Amino acid sequence: MLCDLDAFFAAVEQRDNPELRGKPVIVGGLTGRGVVATCSYEARGFGVRSAMPLKKALKLCPHAVLLPVNISRYREVAAEVLAVYRRFTPFIEVVSIDEAYLGVAPGEGLEVARAIKEAVRKELDLPLSIGVSVNKLLAKVACNLAKPQGLKALWPDEVPQILWPLPVGVLPGIGTKTEKQLKERGIRTVGDLAAAPLYLLKMVLGSEALRFKEYSHGVDRRGLVLSRPPLSFSKETTFPRDVWEPEVVRGALMRLAEDLGYRLRQNGFLARSVTLKLRFADFRTITRTRCLAEGINRDSLIYRTAWELFQEFASSPPWRLVGIKVAELSNWKQLSWLEDEREERERMLALVLDALRSRYGRPVVRRASGLKGILPEGEE
Ligand SMILES: [Mg+2]
Repeated sequence: MLCDLDAFFAAVEQRDNPELRGKPVIVGGLTGRGVVATCSYEARGFGVRSAMPLKKALKLCPHAVLLPVNISRYREVAAEVLAVYRRFTPFIEVVSIDEAYLGVAPGEGLEVARAIKEAVRKELDLPLSIGVSVNKLLAKVACNLAKPQGLKALWPDEVPQILWPLPVGVLPGIGTKTEKQLKERGIRTVGDLAAAPLYLLKMVLGSEALRFKEYSHGVDRRGLVLSRPPLSFSKETTFPRDVWEPEVVRGALMRLAEDLGYRLRQNGFLARSVTLKLRFADFRTITRTRCLAEGINRDSLIYRTAWELFQEFASSPPWRLVGIKVAELSNWKQLSWLEDEREERERMLALVLDALRSRYGRPVVRRASGLKGILPEGEE
């Protein structure tokens, strides 16, 4: 399936600033080339398009809200979206900041796509379109037909009816220049290309002619180019001054454990090893790892393991830096009905906290125990 976020940059801006909802929003380079990067569907209603010069866009839609491109923010949100995808499948090819192909078992595409769309809408409040099929080409075409906020399947037996009437430009690798050359030979639609003799296609497409002939019949042999999943997550804190109090380290470990637990759960992972990193005031640095019998992703268990390692190996203060790494990652299957009540409460708490964090940013909520021994204001 191809998952493509709708008007991604504009959607993030509209989500983060509800005053912009329902209004034409143009995100474009106030610096740089001065073109539209993305615009909201409201702006598209006035004829504004991506890559259009801003001058022209503002002439078409003078009352549009113009915003600069905040790419680091969009990258952050894109990583959260990717984390949602990863809960459903490890087979992911990231195409661009707002597009990814996902591989799932045959027959499960529509069901998984529905669940992903729902999760992205509910957890991240972002509109997403998904195309489902047997290969990348047809998934991409299906996704384009599904936009905005749609879900569509396109199967090989529908190729003559749905793919053939479309312009040849929908095929990957056919740009405006090639499209024009084909047009000069009477080939306008994918159906024209499917019917054209190979020698004619070779005149324009050269050695690629056969591949495009296959595309026109809905055949695409390209596989997924998988994006490698992370091997570990880690985070560390350097104290603003040398620390003598174990309570300060303990608070820091709780906060680190919360961040790592969040990232594990968001990405659908369990970790089977926890590593503590500790740097002393004289810059001596130690790392100590504990392997666990079972995978974990709960804040309290990550914290407890790290704290035990600290108590065992910290020797004498002062300390300068503390960090935690979680590794030996495996996929997390949520099977809540087997858990006891206490587990269930922890799980529900984690879900609520994670929802708050993904909506308002990670520091918005903390366990009180993570505040213990926090350094006085101005120091951290
Ligand atoms: Mg998009």
